[in-house]
Amino acid sequence: MRFLVDSMAGKLARYLRLLGFDAEYHREGDIGHLVKRAREENRIILTRNTSILKLKGEIDFFFLPTEKTDEQVMAVLEHFGLRGEIKPFTRCLECNTPLEKVPRERVKGLVPFHVYLVHREFYFCPGCKRIYWRGTHREKLEEKVRKFAGGHSEKAGSL
Ligand SMILES: [Zn+2]
Repeated sequence: MRFLVDSMAGKLARYLRLLGFDAEYHREGDIGHLVKRAREENRIILTRNTSILKLKGEIDFFFLPTEKTDEQVMAVLEHFGLRGEIKPFTRCLECNTPLEKVPRERVKGLVPFHVYLVHREFYFCPGCKRIYWRGTHREKLEEKVRKFAGGHSEKAGSL
């Protein structure tokens, strides 16, 4: 399942990537562009733009019921039945490309030395060349993943 998130709900794309789902972010606000791109790339539109409702039956979309990102994630997981398909930390948060695990030796000199010393697992994004590892930043994200996977809707901080 491939998604196209419109500019009104940009943070949602990041969260869906965090959970391993293919979610492109559409920066231009124009609904015509959004629809065109969704058709070309065979993606389901996720939007808060009410103009989409007129296109019912013509294009696949899900109208987001809320402005709150966490609740949008929950709604998408629920609507498409995706909770069992969550694969956290398998996709680049920045560019949506699937990550590849890389041997530790390969990142020597590419990440800060203390990071290299402390960490064992590294992942590489072939899209934007970022290197990921289990850092402190990630604990917050892991909390998010647990929350989404468990389906609880308690308040949580932002990324
Ligand atoms: Zn990337």
